[in-house]
Order: sequence, then structure tokens, then C-alpha cells
Amino acid sequence: MQTKVKKGQIEIQWEKCKGCKYCVLTCPKGCIDISPEFNSSGYYPAVFVNPQNCIGCAMCAVVCPEIAIEVFVEE
Ligand code: SF4
Ligand code: SF4
Repeated sequence: MQTKVKKGQIEIQWEKCKGCKYCVLTCPKGCIDISPEFNSSGYYPAVFVNPQNCIGCAMCAVVCPEIAIEVFVEE
């Protein structure tokens, strides 16, 4: 029997993010990185990378102090 892996996706609000990297350090799948470009507040926001690896665990959203991450899960 195969175990189904949950497929996730996240959206990070570019202007809300303060670039603290908590989500980058927390994601167990290496799905978040920091952008080389800055937002209008001068912060380097987090960006979703390697989307195929996201399991929708929502740990990134839980640790984000700015509530800038929304998680979507496909069962
Ligand atoms: S939902 Fe989980 S796997 Fe997906 S980006 Fe957030 S911490 Fe990483
Ligand atoms: S935890 Fe939130 S504020 Fe910090 S880098 Fe990630 S998205 Fe930005």
C-alpha cells in the first residue's frame, strides 16, 4: 500500500514580509528562500521555491510574525 503525501502550496505577501527568515529556517523541505530584490519597505522578502517539495505542513505560516504566509493543501 502506498502512503499519499499531501501536496501543499503557499503564498507569501511580498509587501507584508519583513525578511526575518523564520520561515526559511523552519521549512523542513527547503521550499522558502529570500529574494535578492527588496520590497517597498526595503526588506528582502521570502519567496516560495521548490514548490514540488511542499507538503502543506503550515509550519512556515505558524512561525511568521507578520502573518504573511497563506497555506493551501491539496489532499
Ligand atoms: S507548508 Fe511546510 S513544506 Fe510548505 S513551505 Fe511551508 S513549511 Fe515548507
Ligand atoms: S517568517 Fe514571515 S516575515 Fe519572516 S521572512 Fe518569512 S514570510 Fe517574511
